[in-house]
Amino acid sequence: MFDKILIANRGEIACRIIDTARKLGVATVAVYSDADARARHVQMADQAVPIGGPAPRDSYLRGEAIIAAALATGAQAIHPGYGFLSENPDFVDQVTAAGLVFIGPSAQAIRAMGLKDAAKALMEQAGVPVVPGYHGTNQDPEHLAGAAEAIGYPVLIKAVAGGGGKGMRRVDAPADFATALASARAEAANAFGNEAVLIEKYILSPRHIEMQVFGDGRDAVHLFERDCSLQRRHQKVIEEAPAPGMTDGMRAAMGAAAVRAAKAIGYAGAGTIEFIVDGSDGLREDRFWFMEMNTRLQVEHPVTEAITGLDLVEWQLRVAAGEPLPLRQDQISLTGHAFEARLYAEDVAAGFLPATGTLAHLAFPPGCRADTGVRSGDVISPWYDPMIAKVITHGPTRAIALSQLARALDETHVAGTVTNLGFLSALARHPGFAAGQVDTGLIGRDLAALTAVPVAGDMDLALQATAVLAAADLPQGPLAGFALWGGLAHTVAVTGPEGVIAAQITLTAADRATVTLGGTSVQAHRGPAGWSVAGQPPFTVVLAGGIHVFAPGRSLTVQRHDPLARDAAAGAGSDVTLAPMPGLVKAVAVVAGQAVAQGDALCILEAMKMEHALRAARDGVVAEVLVQNGQQIEAGAALIRLEAEA
Ligand code: ADP
Ligand code: ADP
Ligand code: MG
Repeated sequence: MFDKILIANRGEIACRIIDTARKLGVATVAVYSDADARARHVQMADQAVPIGGPAPRDSYLRGEAIIAAALATGAQAIHPGYGFLSENPDFVDQVTAAGLVFIGPSAQAIRAMGLKDAAKALMEQAGVPVVPGYHGTNQDPEHLAGAAEAIGYPVLIKAVAGGGGKGMRRVDAPADFATALASARAEAANAFGNEAVLIEKYILSPRHIEMQVFGDGRDAVHLFERDCSLQRRHQKVIEEAPAPGMTDGMRAAMGAAAVRAAKAIGYAGAGTIEFIVDGSDGLREDRFWFMEMNTRLQVEHPVTEAITGLDLVEWQLRVAAGEPLPLRQDQISLTGHAFEARLYAEDVAAGFLPATGTLAHLAFPPGCRADTGVRSGDVISPWYDPMIAKVITHGPTRAIALSQLARALDETHVAGTVTNLGFLSALARHPGFAAGQVDTGLIGRDLAALTAVPVAGDMDLALQATAVLAAADLPQGPLAGFALWGGLAHTVAVTGPEGVIAAQITLTAADRATVTLGGTSVQAHRGPAGWSVAGQPPFTVVLAGGIHVFAPGRSLTVQRHDPLARDAAAGAGSDVTLAPMPGLVKAVAVVAGQAVAQGDALCILEAMKMEHALRAARDGVVAEVLVQNGQQIEAGAALIRLEAEA
């Protein structure tokens, strides 16, 4: 085993790897960008080396700086995590050339699986079923249209270099093919610098089921499947293992195909073979097809760890250190059921826009595994993936693990940024999902219900009452302050997300109060755990940059009301288009002096994995363009100014 390793990543995955290294007695070196100097992974590691500016290309993608840090600190091996340099074969070559070990597959295996067309051809030769389609070299639009016709609509156009759901277009009819092809190509050229595509049959009732494989370069085993069908725009949201409805026959067939795929490239380390499954008629052995191989540890590996009881990072380190696979196939068994939900700083109501902020408070309940790279007080910055944590539960049955997940999400407390917690909770309670009727279209079909803002009700009243009681800061102790407060109604006001909340509080005993909000009165009682309102158990109250109240599945942040504070947004009007989130300006569509109509795209902003068009709020004439292509901007930055209305 190694004495010391360097982790070429950040966030939750860097912390996850440090945990296992520590368990194995291996010392760790973190690397960090200027934005991460005080990050959790830096604090957890034994040593840490700065590698540059906040943009990934200035730090986490600088292979030479990372290798230099490993050599300078005496690390023997580099773990790449996922993302960043994890699937970059040139980096693997450089690591090896420097006399270091890359904790992952060989450069040759990564190259073999790097492009989807070549990978499909290779898998076909190895006898692995691949999605029917065209993955040849002829990229002539006429030829590709002909291929689509031969395959039969609907088809999926995919960038061969694709990843993260980019460069992909579903086409339902021949008339739409040319336009879809052009836009898939443009997106692919932009994101991957490679505009080649392949054409695939679009599988109806599609389920994404992937097999975890492990190789040591000689032998390979699988660690069962994960179902990742709960996706939004081809990106995973909740994953689980095993797959609902999995049969022994189907698992054996998929497992054998996955192991065959791994052995065909002499695979060493952790890898995932992704299959698309036609779930229209249950799970059937002749209805799964290879999509791609991810030659790294996967974000959702914890569900596999939960059902197998194994530590995948431990296996990665042992195999990289030259040990054979720790277990044979017949020694690996599956127990219970596990779920993982990806908790993000994102504004669901605004179309899942990535968000930023300082986490005034972050806490997870007992009874779940929470993999995170941040703590209370840390910042979700615009530079990286806005994932806050992965919440993982494991139970003896699927129903139990799912209700554990719903409860864990309800009891996860995040203040300081908007999150997708409510959306995840709604998913965890979706009746079709609970019944195991999963397919990749589930979220899209039920999006309105899943993202509906809960109607204001008793719970909101109780949250608000708790918030004003916290703001009133009533004196504690037997009869303390009762003379001052008792019998008199005091008005206490706070500012919440929807404006000022004013309440009358009357202390009826030292530990009892009546709170009147908008004409409705509730009784409150103070016990050792705080105020309990309307008979509810006391909510958690956190004072940190505001008053944060957490009820199961709901929270409210308020500020003590300052009647002199002016609304910062007032006055901006509709003249200036502001960035709703941090991101990268991909294109500016207008120039000064140009007339625009309400709804015209003014500028395209790329935030994390998506592009967003920012549109004119009214008709007008562009007075000033305040940004340029390629500029990284903060949320709230002014982008385009229109001439004042006459
Ligand atoms: P996976 O396939 O492992 O489930 P996704 O498909 O969600 O992961 O991620 C798409 C790409 O983005 C992958 O290359 C993954 O490694 C990368 N990625 C996802 N989350 C992060 C993160 N927090 N930091 C860096 N890279 C990430
Ligand atoms: P990426 O590299 O972006 O992860 P994948 O090839 O893994 O690309 O596909 C991403 C997602 O797109 C899959 O998880 C699945 O939901 C959907 N998808 C891919 N291929 C097909 C197909 N042939 N039919 C239906 N859905 C598909
Ligand atoms: Mg994929």
